[in-house]
Amino acid sequence: MSFEALGLHVNIIRALTDSGYTKPTSVQEQAIPAAIEGRDLMVSSQTGSGKTAAFMLPALHKLVTAEVVSYDAATSKTPNQERQAARSRGDKPRFVAAKPKMLVLTPTRELALQVTTATDKYSAYSRRIKAVSILGGMPYPKQMQLLSRNPEILVATPGRLIDHMESGKIDFSELQMLVLDEADRMLDMGFIDDIEKIVAATPPTRQTMLFSATLDGVVGNMAKRITTEPLVIQIAGSASKHENIQQRVHFVDDLSHKNRMLDHLLRDTTVDQAVVFTATKRDADTIADRLNIAGFAAAALHGDMHQGARNRTLDALRRGTVRVLVATDVAARGIDVPAITHVFNYDLPKFPEDYVHRIGRTGRAGRKGLAISLVNHAEGMHVKRIERFTKQLIPVDVIEGFEPKKSAAPARSAARKPNGWKPGDARKTGAGAGGGGGYGNNKPGQRSFSKPAGASTGTSAGPRKEGGGYKGNRSNDSGARRTFGDY
Ligand code: AMP
Repeated sequence: MSFEALGLHVNIIRALTDSGYTKPTSVQEQAIPAAIEGRDLMVSSQTGSGKTAAFMLPALHKLVTAEVVSYDAATSKTPNQERQAARSRGDKPRFVAAKPKMLVLTPTRELALQVTTATDKYSAYSRRIKAVSILGGMPYPKQMQLLSRNPEILVATPGRLIDHMESGKIDFSELQMLVLDEADRMLDMGFIDDIEKIVAATPPTRQTMLFSATLDGVVGNMAKRITTEPLVIQIAGSASKHENIQQRVHFVDDLSHKNRMLDHLLRDTTVDQAVVFTATKRDADTIADRLNIAGFAAAALHGDMHQGARNRTLDALRRGTVRVLVATDVAARGIDVPAITHVFNYDLPKFPEDYVHRIGRTGRAGRKGLAISLVNHAEGMHVKRIERFTKQLIPVDVIEGFEPKKSAAPARSAARKPNGWKPGDARKTGAGAGGGGGYGNNKPGQRSFSKPAGASTGTSAGPRKEGGGYKGNRSNDSGARRTFGDY
C-alpha cells in the first residue's frame, strides 16, 4: 500500500517523500481513507505508531482539496483586513475571533508542539494552511498574535484553549474536524470537564477522531458519546510491547551505586542520546547538574520550567547539543527525537502506563532502542506491576564491576507468571531488539525479574525523596490545575 493509493493530495505526498516516508504505517493505512470520507474514528494506538499523520494527513487533504479559505473573500475578510477596514472607518479596533477549521486537543504542551511541527512538515507544499499551538505557559500577547492570523488548524492543550474561548478569541462555528489525541491521558489529567465544554462549543456536524492508548472504560464511554457511527480501529499491541526496544533491569544497592552505574551506562559508546527519568523535579535538576559536572552535555526538563526554557531544551535535544535529557514524566509523551537510543529509569514511574510511554522515547519510527531501569531491591512489586501491564518479562542484567551486594532475583517460578505470558516472551523481546544492534543481549546467567526474597512494595532511596508526592490530578497545562506536586 502506498500513500498515493490512499488518495492523498499530490502536495502532501511530496512532503511525505521529503520526510522520508515511503509507505503508510498500519494505523495510517486504516485511518486515512476513512477520515478522507469524513467518518468519525475511534482509534486505539500508541505513540510511535504514526498516529499523528493518521489524523493530520487526511485533515490536510480535506483542507487542501476543498480549497478551504478561512474567510470567504467575497463576503468576509481576514481578521487583519477587518481590523484595517475598521480603522479606516474610524471604528474602535476590536479583536476578531479566529475561526479554525480543525482543532487538535493534546494533553501536554510538548505533544501539542510535536503535532504542530509535524503538521508544518506535512503541509510544506500547502502554503495556505497554517497551524498554531495554543498552550498554557505561552505569553498571551504572542497567542493573540497567532490567533489573529486566523489559522486553519489549532493544536491546543485544553486549559488555555478554554481561557481563549471564554474571552471570545476563538469561534468554533466553522470547525469541521476535532481530534482528541491521547484522550486517555487527557482524562487521567483531569481534563474531562474541559473536554466536554470544548466539544459542546463545536458544531454537531463536525468530524471527530479520537486517539487513545486504550478504548476501555471511561475513555471508551466518552469516545462513544462524542463520535457518530465511528470506525473503530484497534492497532495490535506491538507498539505497546515496544518489540523494537530491549528492556533491562539493573539492581542497585543504594544511591551511590545507582549514580555510578548511570555514569557507566551513559559512557557506553552505543549511547547516542538518552533520556533519564526521575520521580521529582528536584532530582531532575540535581542529576542534570551532576552529569554536567561529570562531562555529559545534560539538561533538565520538568514542569516547573517556563515554557520558553522547556522549548529551548527540547530544541537543543533535537539539534543534538543536549545529549542526556533528565526529565520527569512531563517529558514521557510527545518527545520524538530519532537519535534517542537509550531511556534510563533512574526512578521507576508510579504508573505502569507511564513506563510504556517513557521507554517509547527511544526506538522511534521502527529504530532499535534500549530501556534500562535502575531498581532498588525494595521495588520488586513495582517491576512486577509493569511486567503484568506490558505482558512482558524484563530481564535482569548484571554489569561486571557493578554487581549488587544482594544477589539478583531468583528465577521466576511458573506460578508467578502474569496472565498472558508465554515462556520465552522476554527472551524474544531481548533478542529481537538487541540482535546485532550492539546493545548486549542477555548473557548466560541473566535472569528475568521476580520478587526478591523479603521485598516489599515501596520506592527506593528514602532520604533522597521528598515525600513521593503522587497525588491528585496530573496536569502540566496550567499551573492552577497542577496538583501533582512532583512533576
Ligand atoms: P507518532 O506515532 O505520530 O508519534 O509518530 C512516530 C514517528 O514515526 C515520528 O517520528 C514520525 O515522523 C514517524 N512516522 C510516522 N509515519 C511514518 C511513515 N509512514 N513512515 C516513516 N516514518 C513515519
